[in-house]
Amino acid sequence: MGLGFITMPVLAQEKLNPTVEAIIKEANDNSQLKRLGHELMDGIGPRLVGSSKMVQASDWAIAQYKNWGIEAKRENYGTWRGWDRGITHIDMVAPWTKSLEGTQLAFSPSMKKPVTAETIILADVADSLAFQAWLPNVKGKYVLIAMPQPTGRPDYNWNEFGTKASIEKIRKERSEATEAWRKRISKTGLSAAKLAQALENAGAVGVIGSLWSNGFGVNKIFAANTKKVPTLDIALEDYALLYRLTESGQAPKLNVFAQSKELGVVPTFNTLAEIKGTEKPNEYVMLSAHFDSWDGGTGATDNGTGTLVMMEAMRILKAVYPNPKRTILVGHWGSEEQGLNGSRAFVEDHPEVVKNLQALFNQDNGTGRVVNLGGAGFKYSKDFITRWLAAAPSYIRDTVKTSFPGSPAGGGSDNASFIAVGAPAFSLGALGWSYGNYTWHTNRDTYDKIVFDDVKHNAILTAILVYMACEDPERMPTDKAELPAGPRGPQTWPIQTKAKRAGGYDN
Ligand SMILES: [Zn+2]
Repeated sequence: MGLGFITMPVLAQEKLNPTVEAIIKEANDNSQLKRLGHELMDGIGPRLVGSSKMVQASDWAIAQYKNWGIEAKRENYGTWRGWDRGITHIDMVAPWTKSLEGTQLAFSPSMKKPVTAETIILADVADSLAFQAWLPNVKGKYVLIAMPQPTGRPDYNWNEFGTKASIEKIRKERSEATEAWRKRISKTGLSAAKLAQALENAGAVGVIGSLWSNGFGVNKIFAANTKKVPTLDIALEDYALLYRLTESGQAPKLNVFAQSKELGVVPTFNTLAEIKGTEKPNEYVMLSAHFDSWDGGTGATDNGTGTLVMMEAMRILKAVYPNPKRTILVGHWGSEEQGLNGSRAFVEDHPEVVKNLQALFNQDNGTGRVVNLGGAGFKYSKDFITRWLAAAPSYIRDTVKTSFPGSPAGGGSDNASFIAVGAPAFSLGALGWSYGNYTWHTNRDTYDKIVFDDVKHNAILTAILVYMACEDPERMPTDKAELPAGPRGPQTWPIQTKAKRAGGYDN
């Protein structure tokens, strides 16, 4: 039998620093996240490097900061091919009629008028000579260059409902088909880019792929390799339909109209905002999230949410901590998706910031609340980060798993650009929310996928970490820890890669 009393839950009021209390109150009472998310993702849209939307988004962010009394500016670092997406309409008009789900890839050449033509499948040839002999067959046709997926159901769905035997069978089928298709491409003797150009030079009217992202109805949307005719991505369901009809000799016909606008060579830039430090204005604490995106969706979780976290944290800090000891600087980077170009350029152009950096916090893996924070391979990071994190309320602090000394990022996102020169840059690692398969670089990366509770959680955490890093009487030493050996031998510190300051024409 139980004891005759009930334990009352103790509602211990956590004692927090008053500025931390104020940060939380401001985040909860005056959240701007939904408005910012709507204006950026729905009102402006995707932010492809070189597009006029990227400029529009930068102007918008600068206006937000100015409204909050924060200095902000655009800083050019190079140039890129300018391109604006127009409409894409893809209709199957034979053997029956269906409007297909698909879109042109970024930087796809514009069509002057709609073109109706039959489809042809990239042939499985013996070698590059045989490919050259087959090539004239593509004249006047849309060429299907992707493997038809044997199933449009993601693994988790098979695992839930399939028999053991059927799961094994579909896995085997898929891996064999993938390998066979890889060989089919390789036997042409051409790279993916050169293959697309060989097809258009031989008179193809368009090149069609389908890059499945292993989730229901989700495709990844990157850049075109063609220079004259459109490159389209068609959703798995519709692509597989076209493929099967082509293969069975029913000669499907497509009517396609894909328009876009070439803008010539345009500037690439970072968007920066700053709250000047009072005691140590030449020392910096940075917030960091790339501002650009791919354009299959609206870049809502890559990296709209990282952007919202940093903007909202800046707004909160300006409201409750307007006179920081160190200078607070936010980097909304350009062209991360083409190789961390904006942040690499910033590191090259601003040695005065990099060498006086107390800490940088970067977020770039989706909408989830932060659950991982490592010491990035710095010997003394543990003392500092533990102390800063300790200021957060337990419901935020306790969800973050720390690891020290951690590993220096060799790539992946913009913190790596700083790490490469030995500057203390940390990644705020978010919970997944099916990022990899469903939103990352996909046509489904849209406003509805944003988890605003988690984004708010991250804005509070970021503001607290930045506040604590500004206030800390000590600078974090940048001594590197001895790195434990990885699976492939001893770990070495990543080396700096130069920013690509001109691009977009080189496929
Ligand atoms: Zn990203």
